[in-house]
Amino acid sequence: MVAAAPRSNRLGSQTISRPAPAIILFGSPGSGKGTQAKLLRHNLKIPHISTGDMLRAHIAAGDEIGEQSRGLLRSGKLVSDELVNELVRARISEPDCRSGIILDGYPRTVNQAGVLLDMMQQNGFRPAVIHLMVDYEKIVARLTGRRQCPVCGTLYSLTTHPPKVEGVCDLDGATLVPRDDDRESVIRERLDQYDMQTRPLLNYFRQAGVPVIKIDGAAASPENIMRHISDSLASLGLIDPSVYPREAPASEAGVTR
Ligand code: ADP
Repeated sequence: MVAAAPRSNRLGSQTISRPAPAIILFGSPGSGKGTQAKLLRHNLKIPHISTGDMLRAHIAAGDEIGEQSRGLLRSGKLVSDELVNELVRARISEPDCRSGIILDGYPRTVNQAGVLLDMMQQNGFRPAVIHLMVDYEKIVARLTGRRQCPVCGTLYSLTTHPPKVEGVCDLDGATLVPRDDDRESVIRERLDQYDMQTRPLLNYFRQAGVPVIKIDGAAASPENIMRHISDSLASLGLIDPSVYPREAPASEAGVTR
């Protein structure tokens, strides 16, 4: 496996060498992990690793992993730890992960968290957890109003980010569809799985000495939430403060530790 090289970043006249960050985006389904991952990837130029996207790509390809996972995703249940651990292990050994990674939707169980922390240690990554907190009733409204382009994958929201023409993708004109698991009964099942299996990881991380940063995931625009996440990561020394735009008012996204 490839060791993550320390990054050198110039800060004024100083050169700072920092270990590769492993930014763990944590929160319930619909808390905005995917949106934040894309914004952070754009600024930090490190890969976004989404186990949900990886599984959906296998399902679309119709391969063996896809066949094993399809029914579980459709019903809102988790796929096996062994399967996702192997997907992540293989992905983070690729060369583009040497400068750092953004994890979205992984880890989700205590087993996955243990495997991840071992991988982080073996590969010289420095992990930090960003906990995006959003009220569950808001989540259900967000997810039932979500539509996706089946061709390019772009996500829309019927309330906050509608397409220019109703029901049609702005980019390629395809008819938008709800994601398979965005029906209300399945959303409730995903929230239950989160409560039972994933939320307890917050204590696990704290006990393992991994910093956990709480962010209000509904108090500001996605761009301002991204700035507050970036401020927190910069104050921990995990990212270079010069790589993201910084003009948001400090009070807006409700950062607490
Ligand atoms: P969300 O966070 O909105 O539920 P994801 O795209 O992260 O969306 O996950 C969709 C589904 O993929 C999950 O409901 C689960 O079935 C499966 N999945 C994704 N990541 C994992 C994981 N780390 N462990 C087990 N199952 C996973």
